[in-house]
Parts: sequence; structure tokens; C-alpha cells
Amino acid sequence: MINLNMHYSELKDSYLFYNISEKIKAYRQANPDKELYHLGIGDVSLPLCDAVIKALHSAVDDQSRKETFQGYLPECGAPFFRKAISDFYVNKGIDIKPEEVFASSGASNELGDIIDLFDQSSKALIMEPAYPAYIDDSVIAGRKIFHQDTGRDTMFLASPDKSIDADLIYLCSPNNPTGAVYNYEQLKEWVDFANDRGAIILFDAAYEAFIEDDSIPHSIMQIDGAKTCAIEICSLSKTAGFTGTRLGYTIIPSELNRNGMNINSMWVRNRTTKTNGVSYIIQKGGAAVFTDEGQKEIHEILKVYKNNAKVLMKVLDELGIWYCGGKNAPYIWLKCPGNMSGWDFFDYLLNEIQVIGTPGEGFGKCGSGYFRLATFGDSKKTIIAAERIRDLISKKEN
Ligand code: PLP
Repeated sequence: MINLNMHYSELKDSYLFYNISEKIKAYRQANPDKELYHLGIGDVSLPLCDAVIKALHSAVDDQSRKETFQGYLPECGAPFFRKAISDFYVNKGIDIKPEEVFASSGASNELGDIIDLFDQSSKALIMEPAYPAYIDDSVIAGRKIFHQDTGRDTMFLASPDKSIDADLIYLCSPNNPTGAVYNYEQLKEWVDFANDRGAIILFDAAYEAFIEDDSIPHSIMQIDGAKTCAIEICSLSKTAGFTGTRLGYTIIPSELNRNGMNINSMWVRNRTTKTNGVSYIIQKGGAAVFTDEGQKEIHEILKVYKNNAKVLMKVLDELGIWYCGGKNAPYIWLKCPGNMSGWDFFDYLLNEIQVIGTPGEGFGKCGSGYFRLATFGDSKKTIIAAERIRDLISKKEN
């Protein structure tokens, strides 16, 4: 009889967002007339920008004519897409060649797939609170996981701990869920740590487009030494509204080697075996994000989300609630008032004012008592939600 991957049985019973959606479903059934205000799941609310839509339409037309029709594309990405990303990095002063760029169907897919490159014995280090997929991917792969807790004392950022014997280091900046960002010096510590011990950093840069401050690197490849220890995983989901369209890219420097093997070449081998690439139409749409017009348009959209963050932060400031994130990141991570647990605060906001957020407990034990607000919602509804939070908490405190 076949043996299954029994590591699936070690996964936690239900995924955070499943629990939340069940609670929302039950609330809706009991209160069908109430409007809900979503500051929970990190999905965008604004459509693709014009430059992308035009490129998608034109790519569809290409597929309708014999002369422009495209069949299979190179598995690692269409040359025009890899070049667009390479130019984007070069324009930021980071030397990345098109061959170091791989198209993906999104960061989630890539985070799950890329750990194929590492032996099962390699041990993962995950800073918590963390995006849940890092843990689940590592559990499914049967990897030993070191959990490194972070807290308010370090603004939810972690520094390398030499006593932790990790091979694969997950870093996410700007962070989901905390909105925390590493500066150059802090990332350099991680790069030195990884190079010293021969570890690899999986750098999740899904939210790089939200960075405003010059003191915050957009890419780990801006750090000296990163090209010998880091893989960068990026997504167009939040940058350009591709959550439903699906496209991302991964940077694997050509000088990244371990055990006498070149990791870029290994990933080429992996992709050419396990995928037939990403759709021509979608890559055309993605390349349009990196045109001047596309960049201008996506940053107009990001401004709307950033304004949502300002609206929410203003209310938290008025209420004297501790939080981090919100700046350089689309998430606000707050301490639940009155020492409530994240799940209690979730129920309280849902039942009293119909505002939905995400309990910190869903991102690891040290997230307990914290709460995540996402800023991707409709701006009018975010204003109403912020007012409702202000009225509810100030009434509770008086
Ligand atoms: N990485 C982080 C930190 C995320 O928050 C998300 C999505 O929310 C992803 C990766 C997945 O992005 P994608 O939509 O590209 O799969």
C-alpha cells in the first residue's frame, strides 16, 4: 500500500482565515441586515490599472492571430518579463540580470515550491508572528522548524541568534502581519549571519512597493553580501492588484552556490521539469506594471491604501493604542485594548461594530493579545470602520 506524506497530519487543524470566515458566516446568518467592514484578509479592493488592462487586452489579441500567437514560453519566464524586472532593479541601482529573474504564479506558489531545492534535513528558522504559509510549507516538507519570537521590545523585528542552528532563514520585510520593516544595518546582520554559517535567506518582499522611507531597503539584494546567501521572492498581488490575476517573480543570483552546486541552475532545472511557465497574457500584463505609465498608475492606487492606513493610525493615536506598521507597509499591528486576546477582540469588534480584523494568535503564540488591520479596503468603508473603532473604544474606556 502507498505511504502518504504523514507530515500533513502535523499541520494545525484549520487555517486562520478558515476560522475567521466561519465566524463571519455565522454572524451573517444571524444578522443578515448588518453591513460588515472588512479590515481582515489582505486582499486588494481596487482593480488593475489601465496600463495593465491595455497590455492584457492587446496580449489576448496577439493570441487571436497566427502571426502573433504564442504557444509555450520559456519555463523560467518570457524574455520581455525577465528584462522588465531586471531593468526595474537596475534602475534602483541593483545589478540583477534577466537570467537571475524567474517568473512565478505568485509568491505563495513559489514559497511552497522553492524549498524543493533544499534537503529535508535542512532546518528552517521562522520569525514569529509570521505569515502562516512559512510554517505550513516547512511542516509539509518534514523540516525541523526553529521559532524565534519577536515582541514589542524590538518593534517585532528579530536579530540573528548564533545559538540557533538554522539553514533556511525566512525573512519578510515589510512584514505580514506586523508591518515591521528592517533597515539596512539590521538586514546586513542577517546577511552576515547567513554567509557565516552557509545558510540561505528566503526573503519575502511581497510588500516592497509600500516602502516610502529611504532608510528601508526595497530588496535584500541592496545589502552587501546578499547575492551569496539570499533568494528574493516577490509578488505583483499587492503591488499591482494581481491577487486574482496571479503573477510574481523570484530573484536567484548567479553567484549563489552551496555544496558545489549553483542554485540558479538548480532552479532552472526545477522549473523546466515542474512547470511550463506562466501564461503569455499574464506576463504581458505584468510587464506593463514596470513601464513608466504602469508605475505611475500603481503608485496612485497604493496611495489610496496608504491613506487608509493614515485614517486608521490617526484613530489609534487618538485612543493611545500601541501599534507598529502602517507606514512602509499595508498592515497595522496593534495591542488589543483592555488586555483582550486577539480572538476576544475579533469577536468584540465583529459583534459590536461589524468591523473585521485578524487576531494576532493566528500568526504564532507571540501574536497573542495583538490584532492585525489590513489597509486594502474601500476608503469610505475604512473611514466608517475607523470612526466605529474610535467610538467603541472611547465609550468602553469612559
Ligand atoms: N508573502 C506574504 C508575506 C504575503 O502576505 C502574501 C499574501 O498575502 C504572499 C506572500 C502571497 O502572495 P501571492 O498572492 O503572490 O501568492
